[in-house]
Amino acid sequence: KVMVGTKVDQNHVNWITAYNMLTGIRFTVSRINAKMDRPLTDADFDAKNKFSFDITGNELTPSAKYDFKFKDYSPWVFRHLRAKFRLDPADYLMSLTSKYILSELGSPGKSGSFFYFSRDYKYIIKTIHHGEHRFLRHILRDYYKHVEDNPDTLISQFYGLHRVKTPFGRKIHFVVMNNLFPPHRDIHQTFDLKGSTIGRDFKEENLAQNPRATLKDLNWLRRDMNLNFGPTKKELFLQQVHRDVELLKRLHIMDYSLLLGIHDLTKGNSEDIRNNTLKVFQPGASTAEAGQDDPASHMLQRTPSKMEKARQARELRKTINKEVPITLDRGANRLPEEFLEQRNTIFYGDDGGFRATHENDENGDVIYYLGIIDCLTHYGFVKRLEHFWRGLSNPKDQVSAIPPDGYGDRFFKFISGHVKSQEEAARDKAARE
Ligand code: ATP
Ligand code: CA
Ligand code: CA
Repeated sequence: KVMVGTKVDQNHVNWITAYNMLTGIRFTVSRINAKMDRPLTDADFDAKNKFSFDITGNELTPSAKYDFKFKDYSPWVFRHLRAKFRLDPADYLMSLTSKYILSELGSPGKSGSFFYFSRDYKYIIKTIHHGEHRFLRHILRDYYKHVEDNPDTLISQFYGLHRVKTPFGRKIHFVVMNNLFPPHRDIHQTFDLKGSTIGRDFKEENLAQNPRATLKDLNWLRRDMNLNFGPTKKELFLQQVHRDVELLKRLHIMDYSLLLGIHDLTKGNSEDIRNNTLKVFQPGASTAEAGQDDPASHMLQRTPSKMEKARQARELRKTINKEVPITLDRGANRLPEEFLEQRNTIFYGDDGGFRATHENDENGDVIYYLGIIDCLTHYGFVKRLEHFWRGLSNPKDQVSAIPPDGYGDRFFKFISGHVKSQEEAARDKAARE
């Protein structure tokens, strides 16, 4: 499901918003990248810059297709974060560039957020609520410090925080973050795990109709699933989850989940996903259409030629068709290669993910693509909502939204209880029966 998106082109209802988001990102990111690097100051965390775009352009901003206002938050902080997450500045701009770059993933959650993939599928733009936006600004120092101390954090990697305002005054806040799932590999199963069982069930009878649906905690338990890691990876993984959860507890965050995509190497990539992947990339289409009339195109630091793009598309197609072997020939395919370079950290180091291991730490047959997502819900919001709904029947002090400490402990307990090698899991199962 996640692989497929609706292409956002000129006929799409959100075309103008998406276009304005990208124009604003390109302008502000180019602007900050053009400056000489310097250490962060305290004021950088509270900084915000406002820009006005219009069709004629002005001394500050180039002309744009539409009139809109754009606000860029803490640009220096995000520049440094992008560097910490090892993003290549030119590459980041190129990914969020050109007209046909996005595909929209409707609104997969209940929150009403929209999700857009960059054309090359590396980045996700998520629209967020004003409350989440304010909260991210509020915790930015702690988040930054955490990334500094935990370069391998599993928490969503934020690369930018921005706002567009339409001429009608509608404000849309959004973040740019990492897509956990790889462009070049089929995800055979997806889970979104919170450690809670209440309402955490994807109806099994709907699975036939939607085989790539995101499954939840109860589906996980029903399938007797585990994250199969031998002792070394288990230790590494749980240590990081623990550190991440401690941060989330301290910041009074809840409602986050472990997003997990499983690629089964014995299954490889299916026909179906090959087509979808190409649909998302649209490498050919964008080449033909990304032209001179693109007002922000001059801001690109590195524009691949038509020929280069066509070559990339051919190679991508070739690679996808021949089913990428686990050790990618690095010269063979530029797009997966960049994807891998960006992610040569522990948990994104095995072909963009974290490969299962056996009890003896030898490689297993699946690659896990995972991370902790949806980390901007502050306990205060949830509690206020609960008070509102329950206030009529319950006295205030009995209201019990699970506080962040309880949420985090339950989350960690659930995950740590389901990390074991295949061999260990088999022994546990035998003992139970
Ligand atoms: P809700 O608050 O109802 O849970 P939400 O709008 O806040 O919804 P998320 O929980 O952030 O949405 O994400 C919803 C789904 O979008 C996830 O289950 C996953 O399928 C996809 N998704 C979100 N973030 C990522 C990511 N970083 N990489 C890949 N997929 C993602
Ligand atoms: Ca969620
Ligand atoms: Ca949410």
